[in-house]
Amino acid sequence: MDILSSLTDLRTARLSLNGTVGLVPTMGYLHEGHLSLVSRAKAENQHVIVTIFVNPTQFGANEDLSKYPRDLERDLSLLRPIGVDVVWTPTAEVMYPPGYQTWVEVEALTNPLEGAMRPGHFRGVTTVVAKLFNATQPTKAYFGQKDAQQAAVIRRMAVDLNFPLEVIICPTTREADGLAKSSRNKYLSEAERAAATVLFRSLSAAKDLYASGERDAENLRGKMKEVIASEPLANMQYVSCADYDSLQELETVTGKALLSMAVFLGKTRLIDNFVLG
Ligand code: AMP
Repeated sequence: MDILSSLTDLRTARLSLNGTVGLVPTMGYLHEGHLSLVSRAKAENQHVIVTIFVNPTQFGANEDLSKYPRDLERDLSLLRPIGVDVVWTPTAEVMYPPGYQTWVEVEALTNPLEGAMRPGHFRGVTTVVAKLFNATQPTKAYFGQKDAQQAAVIRRMAVDLNFPLEVIICPTTREADGLAKSSRNKYLSEAERAAATVLFRSLSAAKDLYASGERDAENLRGKMKEVIASEPLANMQYVSCADYDSLQELETVTGKALLSMAVFLGKTRLIDNFVLG
């Protein structure tokens, strides 16, 4: 497993890989969610490149960039047994050279949901992912359904910019009690960790309502709000029942829909989603 940080070394290593290459972009502090993407990339490609880069441009001024968890040695020890060919850990100076002023922006899809709560977030994501695609030239690139809007935005970007690759979205990996695995779960106190199942519980309650025939999106949103409100340690930021493709809020669920939410447990902001239909 080559562990590289310069762009020159990455390019040399990439040129030596013949055949298909799967890319898994991450911000590190790896957990089973990330590893499920890496395993899928390994199964579907001759070679795998994992990138680890805590991308400063996707964090807002009041967000957790400086305290985002990092443990490179642990990450590498988790990747070695899977048979990853290259781990690229570029520095911020490599990704954003002095004088940097070039950005990739996806328009309408980035306006609602996470985009509305985190202005500039998706501009940072699409810019860094476009740069990672350029640097690593993958055959397929793997992302998690956990970040549903990000997945939709990256798919759109890859089509719009004619990237010659396939974007693969992998299912959300969860803890036994339903909490979606996330590097940010580490911030939760014991009580907050117990309360954090409220995201899964409220999504499940809305899904059950849908399964019983409810198609009024406001009622589905109302069910999610009700379950979140019943958890004293949880503070809802938003709940959504949106069209799966456009991410616009629905009045009535007719086709495929995305139930999603952002909830604070103390200072920790968690997101989760289910797909309906
Ligand atoms: P991050 O390091 O948080 O930027 O995540 C890197 C990639 O892993 C993204 O494509 C995420 O959507 C994906 N990911 C994060 N958590 C999970 C999870 N619990 N299940 C599946 N994929 C995940």
